[in-house]
Amino acid sequence: MFTETRGNDTLKPKSVPFSYALLNPSASFGGLYVPENLPKIDLDFLESATKKSYKELTIDILKRFAIDIEDSIIAQAVALYDHFDDASNPAPLVQIKEDLYVNELYHGPTRAFKDMALQPFGHILSHLTQKNKEDYLILAATSGDTGPATLDTFADKENIRVVCLYPDGGTSDVQRLQMTTQKSKNLKIIGIHGNFDDAQNALKTLLASPSFNAKLTQENIKLSAANSVNFGRIIFQIIYHIHAYVALLKQHKVELGKPFYTIVPSGNFGNALGAYYAKKMGLPIEKILIASNINNILTDLINTGIYDLRNRKLLLTTSPAMDILISSNVERVLYDKFGAKRTKEMMDNLKNEKIYQLSPDELASLREDFDAIYCDDTFAKGTIASFAKEGYVMDPHTATCLSAYENLKQKNIPCVLCSTAEWTKFAPTMFNAIQNDMKKYSDKEALEGFSKALHVKIPECINTLFSQPIVHGKVIDKKDIEVEIFNFLKNKS
Ligand SMILES: *Cc1c(COP(=O)(O)O)cnc(C)c1O
Repeated sequence: MFTETRGNDTLKPKSVPFSYALLNPSASFGGLYVPENLPKIDLDFLESATKKSYKELTIDILKRFAIDIEDSIIAQAVALYDHFDDASNPAPLVQIKEDLYVNELYHGPTRAFKDMALQPFGHILSHLTQKNKEDYLILAATSGDTGPATLDTFADKENIRVVCLYPDGGTSDVQRLQMTTQKSKNLKIIGIHGNFDDAQNALKTLLASPSFNAKLTQENIKLSAANSVNFGRIIFQIIYHIHAYVALLKQHKVELGKPFYTIVPSGNFGNALGAYYAKKMGLPIEKILIASNINNILTDLINTGIYDLRNRKLLLTTSPAMDILISSNVERVLYDKFGAKRTKEMMDNLKNEKIYQLSPDELASLREDFDAIYCDDTFAKGTIASFAKEGYVMDPHTATCLSAYENLKQKNIPCVLCSTAEWTKFAPTMFNAIQNDMKKYSDKEALEGFSKALHVKIPECINTLFSQPIVHGKVIDKKDIEVEIFNFLKNKS
């Protein structure tokens, strides 16, 4: 069963099953749902996992969470990993240095790690809406990766319509085309004048708007969200961390029970939270190293215990999926360590004063599991270029992890970094990095230039984007979103 990070307001149920948390992701007082208990995995489990496939491991872990989803539905959901590049191994672990491994999480249909969770999550959520015979509107705001992955997973699903907001000019050409060329009738993609924060704020305003919700109720439509505040995504993000260790065991790179580091390029902290839960469940993670870009609010929190939004402005970088100041999933760690009362206090402080502060004891507890560092775009580009020279291609988000590897790793044990996107989604930055120039390339030019220079293939699903018709060309002002959504729901556009 699942409970709430900020305690209960007596209006919502106190303890809910998995399916409820999926369909209704916002808990009392604006909190989030979290598992009441985490299952344990021991060394026997890890040892036996070396004989299992990724899918079998996923099913075993989900069973331990005792979720209220039928086995047959879970089996169908994890079968979606068969569409990844290698059906037998959706998340390959690749060695790039003596003690450094990359957990490649981007081999799914939209070429970013969001597919690892959204593919199975989408299947389970649509099953629930059909079973309950309810129509749902799923809202998503994206800086570029969540959008395509959400649209892909819900395309043509019955009982579900998706409206996805993206900042016009704020994504790469590839990311924009992955959305605007979507043909499925149940999807609507809207460009917004403004940046990602504007898109995200517009979405939060709608989710909380009584009049918007009342109008949806009139139409018999329920509202949900597909971002990583939904625990249905987090549960699938625990598994690949466990799988990475199992892969190290299989490759005889670590002895059973001996620790390893993991490095996570972080934005909304969903990926890092998955690692934290895996560690609590018994996975021998020495420490979770959090990598950020110059939007380094997580670095500050983990080093000083202070989360301070005052005088902070979002800065645009070449790792846009990490350009974020309000990192939602930190709350779940705070709850796990300090309980609901204290979490609500800190989250209220953040809302009212734009700051919260951990006590020295609380900070020490956080630092038992995490350490953190950030780097700038110059470092990331230099890293891309030097690895490219040695034949390994990593995207600009993954490249931020090298700063953590070089500065925070203290013990001589294996280190796994999470690679969150394929280079093809950020081709202009990639080409700039290897050319060591600052020219403005289109995605198409950069894809071709980079692919030629390094002899790497561009997958068909990226190449074909450029010749497909744009179905969703509209870019509008924030104030017009609501009208646009209802026109879509009434099939007027
Ligand atoms: C979403 C994303 C991130 C950040 O992941 P979180 O779970 O939000 O911390 C990092 N890199 C890429 C490429 C992403 O798409």
